Formats: sequence, structure tokens, C-alpha cells
Amino acid sequence: MAHGRVALVGAGPGHPGLLTERARALIEQADVIVYDRLVSPRLLLHAKPEATLVYAGKAPGCHALGQREIEAMLVDLARQHDLVVRLKGGDPLVFGRGAEEAAALRQAGVPFELVPGVTSALAVPAFAGIPATLRGVSRSFAVATGHAGDGLMARVDALAAAETIVLLMGVSELPRIAGELAAHGVSSDTPAAIVEWGTRWKQRTVRATLGGLAHEAERKGIGSPAVIVIGQVAADASLGSWFESMPRFGERHLLLASSMREALAHAAPLEAEGAEVLAYTWDRARSLRPSEADAGLTAVAHGRPVGFVFRTALGVDAWLCAVQRAGLDLRRLAHVQVAAIDGYVAHALRERGLSPDARSLGEIARAPVDLWLVEAAGSGDDVDAACRASGAEVRPLNLLGARLAPAVPARWQPFVRTWRDVIADWLSEGPADLWALGDPALMRPLALELGMDSEPLRRADAFGLAAREAVCGA
Ligand code: SAH
Repeated sequence: MAHGRVALVGAGPGHPGLLTERARALIEQADVIVYDRLVSPRLLLHAKPEATLVYAGKAPGCHALGQREIEAMLVDLARQHDLVVRLKGGDPLVFGRGAEEAAALRQAGVPFELVPGVTSALAVPAFAGIPATLRGVSRSFAVATGHAGDGLMARVDALAAAETIVLLMGVSELPRIAGELAAHGVSSDTPAAIVEWGTRWKQRTVRATLGGLAHEAERKGIGSPAVIVIGQVAADASLGSWFESMPRFGERHLLLASSMREALAHAAPLEAEGAEVLAYTWDRARSLRPSEADAGLTAVAHGRPVGFVFRTALGVDAWLCAVQRAGLDLRRLAHVQVAAIDGYVAHALRERGLSPDARSLGEIARAPVDLWLVEAAGSGDDVDAACRASGAEVRPLNLLGARLAPAVPARWQPFVRTWRDVIADWLSEGPADLWALGDPALMRPLALELGMDSEPLRRADAFGLAAREAVCGA
């Protein structure tokens, strides 16, 4: 059987600057991206708008995928797509189970490529100002898991011999780890630090002694993911807290823009000052299921008396884009009726060169149409009722928030995420400022789609280090 290929790619600890060039190129080309909980949503912005995003963590209402299921998924997806990117936090071969996934792919005869990533074991301490080695202070470091199930205890003697000890996955077992190391001759006065969510907007660093670290971490509410560093380097002050004191550290900005290229160019100077940026763009909002677009357009192409009822301006754009993608000659639309549900949507239609044939339920009911395709956004059963009252067939057309989901087997569908989901996940981490690149009125439908319509939407200046006063779209 012919196969696509899988790239096992390290995403680094989260900061966009720590993605390798190869990783970025593969994300840009991927048809499907299977990503983990620790992969920052920001890195997914490099993907094609129509790429399918699959979350290999826990899906809503579903159990979390086991390792064997993820391997089966990769093999399955590779059979249907040219390039599947398996994106993992940090480096795929450092406590990332990348080797197991590679073995499963080999066994199934699926070609793969491996792209190392910047591991959190080194980058996270570095972002907290802690060097792994330091001339005259530490000449060796050891990286281990702090998770008991993974056998730290067996090798704790070897670990205790390193001058710098770096522990991943150790937060919940800190007191036990500290006790074990002390029992193997590591003084409880040894400097230590724990760094939570390193390289991200919410990075926090707690420094203490080995003996006091568990208590301090608990007092400050430090949780997973975090990297623990034990050794004299943890007390070194030469780097200071360089990242956490950047001028825009802790800031979060969500940019609404026409294209991702424009959004990423705008994000760069903000990120250079320590802010975290995400973007939602028209080119992503417009991706829709081909089957849904086809449902309407095939009828149009066959010259059936068809009408479209639009409930949102975004739907108008998504539909025009689908017409274009379908390669439909615009002259075939001559007999199509278009209806807008209110003045705002009617205005959006007119702006795009289409004058609505109907703007009220009464007009819709009287239109000479035998199939109404009704944009399924929001509620509004009244529209369906009016269409039906005229004896027309009514079909929902899901233009908004629809995702382009090419042949992902049904089994994995619950794990598919839309762009809107990815942004919602990011927003659930904490508040963000909302900016429009360009006219806020044109970007407002994007905010609406994200459920952020009541947030102030300001216009960002070109290369937006400052922003003008609030200008709200209608
Ligand atoms: N392959 C990854 C490690 C996976 S194990 C790598 O090379 O980085 C998961 C652990 O990595 C977490 O429990 C935590 O200890 C660490 N980790 C990953 N990303 C992190 C981050 N941004 N901040 C702090 N710790 C992180």
C-alpha cells in the first residue's frame, strides 16, 4: 500500500523562537499535525489554513489516547496523507516516547523523518537565568525523570554524582526526590530552583535550597509542567531573570488579521519584547468542509432554483471563497437568490457586489426558490420556518466555524481540533488583548466567531508596538 510519510518533530518548550527551521518548514507543509498538550498553540500558526489538527491529549468527552493508540493513529493517517507531522514538546527523544513511535512506523513500513527539538531540560533553566554548566562551578549535568514509575530511585546514586541535576516531571514528587538525594549525600543546603511553564508568558521561577524547595513550590502553587534544577548553578546570578524582566513579559495579544503572513510579521516585534501572540485570520476562518460547500454549489451548477440565506458577514465571505475554490463560473450564479437576515449582513453582501433579493422573513417566504440553503450559524429557527412555509426544501449550510476535515478516519474525528478550538484553548490559559490589523469593522466577524464580540477591539498600528485609541467596529 502506498504511504505518505511521518515527521517526528520536536517543537521545543513553547517559545516561537525555539522552533528549528526544519520543524517550521515541516509544519508549513503538513497535511495533518498530531500535537501534544505541551505544544504551544502559537507554533501551530505556521500550518496551512486547511491542515487538519489532531490533539493527541484528552479530547472533550473522550478518554486520553494511549501510546499504542497514538501509534496506530500515525500509521492510519500516513496511509491517507502525504505528510503527517507528529509534533511533540521539547525534543522527541528526551522523555518523549519518540523512539517508540518511530519503531511502530518502521514496523508498519511507514517512512519517517526525525527532527530533534530544543529540550526543556536545557532551555527552561536558561530562560530562568540558570546555566547548566558554569566555569569553576559545575562541569557536568544529568537529566532524569522525577517520576517514580520511571526508576529514578534505582539510579539516584549516579544522579547525585552530577554537579547539576535537572529533573523533568518531578513536581508532584519533590519531597520524596529531595529526601532521596539527601540520603545519597546531596546536602539539603544545595541551591535549587523550579521553573514552571518555562519560555511561555506565564513562566514562574522559584529558587530555594534543596531542603526548602518542595515547601516553597507548594506555597507558590507551582504545578506541572516544570523543570527542577539542583546544584550551585541554581544560585548563580550572572544571567538575572532576563526573560521574566523583558518589557512585554506576561502580555498576551490576539491579533485578528486578513492573512497569517501579515499577523506573523506583526507578532515578531511584540515577541521580541517578550509578549506572547496568537492570531486568527480570515484565511483560517474561511476553511470549510468541502462537502458542505459542495452541497450548495452542485445545486447551483445544475441550474436548480436555489437560494442562500446568510446570517453572518463571515458566512458571505466563506461562501464566496467556496465558490472560487469550486472553480464555478460566476455567471452561473445569475439565477441564485440571496437573502440577508438583517441590515448588517445585507450591507456585507452589497459590499461584495451582491444585492440581496430578500431582507425579511416575508420576502424570503415569497421568493421563487425550491431549495433554500440556510447558513446554520446561531439560532434563528424563524428563518427555517419561513422558508418551509413557502414549500421550499431547507438545508443547513455550516459555513461558520466549519473545519476542512479531509479523510481523517471516523475513529480519530473526536480528536480533530478547529482553529477556533486552538484559539479557545489558548484563551482559556488567561486573558488576552484583542487587536485588529486593519479596519476593526472588517475584523469584527472574526471576534464574533471566537465569542469575543463584547471585548474591545482596537486597531494595532503598523508594526504595532503602540496602538491607537479604541475604534470599535459596528
Ligand atoms: N520531550 C520533552 C520532555 C517531555 S516530558 C523535552 O525534551 O522537553 C514532560 C516534562 O517536560 C514536563 O513534565 C516538564 O518537566 C518538562 N517540560 C516540558 N516543557 C516545559 C515547559 N515549557 N516548562 C517547564 N517544563 C517543561
